[in-house]
Amino acid sequence: MAIRLANNCINCDHYVDGGICAIHKVMVSGKHTCDSFDMKLSLKNDRNCLSCARFETEHCAHPDHASAGMLCASWAPQAEA
Ligand code: SF4
Ligand code: SF4
Repeated sequence: MAIRLANNCINCDHYVDGGICAIHKVMVSGKHTCDSFDMKLSLKNDRNCLSCARFETEHCAHPDHASAGMLCASWAPQAEA
């Protein structure tokens, strides 16, 4: 089964260089997350069925609806070439 991006501080839009959370003003890392988690815009923009490792496979959660511009909670990153 494919893996998904983690909802942790490293992938959060509030994570700033130096490892500081812009909201809580404390040091955070990939071990942390909170209810204010907001996926980085660059990661959001890259997420759709065409960039999903499950697209056109038996692991797709919505094979009848999967298409360009669509996205679901089961999106998984493709392996680096
Ligand atoms: S503590 Fe919450 S708001 Fe701050 S970087 Fe982590 S997930 Fe984002
Ligand atoms: S419907 Fe979901 S699981 Fe299927 S390709 Fe799109 S994002 Fe991936």
